[in-house]
Amino acid sequence: VPTVLRVSPVAPNGVDSETIAQAARVIRDGGLVAFPTETVYGLGANALDADAVGRIFVAKGRPAINPLIVHVTGAEQAATVGHWTPEAQRLAEQFWPGPLTLVLERRPQVADVVTAGLDTVAVRAPDHPVALALIAAAGVPVAAPSANRSGAVSPTCAEHVVASLGDRVDLVLDAGPTQVGIESTVLALGPLRLLRLGHVSRAAIQACVGPVVMATQASDEGPTSPGQLLRHYAPHARLIAVACGDGPAMVEALADRDRAGLITHRATSAHDPQVRLPSDPEGFARGLYAALHQLDGACDTIIIESVPAGEEWAAVRDRLERATRD
Ligand code: AMP
Ligand code: MG
Repeated sequence: VPTVLRVSPVAPNGVDSETIAQAARVIRDGGLVAFPTETVYGLGANALDADAVGRIFVAKGRPAINPLIVHVTGAEQAATVGHWTPEAQRLAEQFWPGPLTLVLERRPQVADVVTAGLDTVAVRAPDHPVALALIAAAGVPVAAPSANRSGAVSPTCAEHVVASLGDRVDLVLDAGPTQVGIESTVLALGPLRLLRLGHVSRAAIQACVGPVVMATQASDEGPTSPGQLLRHYAPHARLIAVACGDGPAMVEALADRDRAGLITHRATSAHDPQVRLPSDPEGFARGLYAALHQLDGACDTIIIESVPAGEEWAAVRDRLERATRD
């Protein structure tokens, strides 16, 4: 079991500096620290230290072709890892700190292993006081994918991190459950292309910088961003989406021969085990991964009610489509 340190994001005097200093030392010494962001928990290492970043890939069992997001305190530090443009500045002014990752032309100081050999680098400033304090105290940009074994459901609390990574991580900062609950929106600059959907919507980005092309599905030449992989973010249990309202009947039909769990947001049912999520997109996204983690251990099959077709549900729908693929 790794060392887990609780750190309050809303302490009277801000984030506890002793704890942050200890975690920052681990980063500077080349170790791995799991830390909270507003999206999901990240598994962080010094982005300028190739050996440290290599440990992230080993700990996750992550394929070397899957590049990492570099976490920074803001635009100034982002400009040290990527080519900063007026467009990047506009986006950062509007959305940072926040769940929007920008893919920029890279600078040479970033370790090759971070970008998986690409000539671009992904960068964002997370909207979480603990994450920002850690990056500032470390004094280096922090490369961090989600703090889970590769391909599995992302962690939205420290317990998920410990369950997935065990002592493959040196230190876990625990600040309770995350707010957004799904991974960041990923936007490539140059010709603007949306590589992954998230809490920051396409409409909000377009209102800021004009038309954005959707590139969230892998093309014939293979994925240019692994968030485009068709199956991803999936639990071990079989996950089946059913029409909204059909969840209870479906789970009862399976119950004789299957340990089946139910995730609803509209229908009511007495089925056990069951998680009822809020019926608004933000609340649903916030609770989705915890629901999958909770039911995954206890069930062979998880039945989840489909979400509505509206644009405000696009990011959640994207995760469910990838998680329900065979
Ligand atoms: P994760 O941090 O595990 O949620 O995954 C990071 C996401 O950022 C993945 O979907 C990557 O494909 C994407 N990403 C990171 N770096 C780049 C890059 N240079 N170009 C395109 N996508 C990237
Ligand atoms: Mg991930």
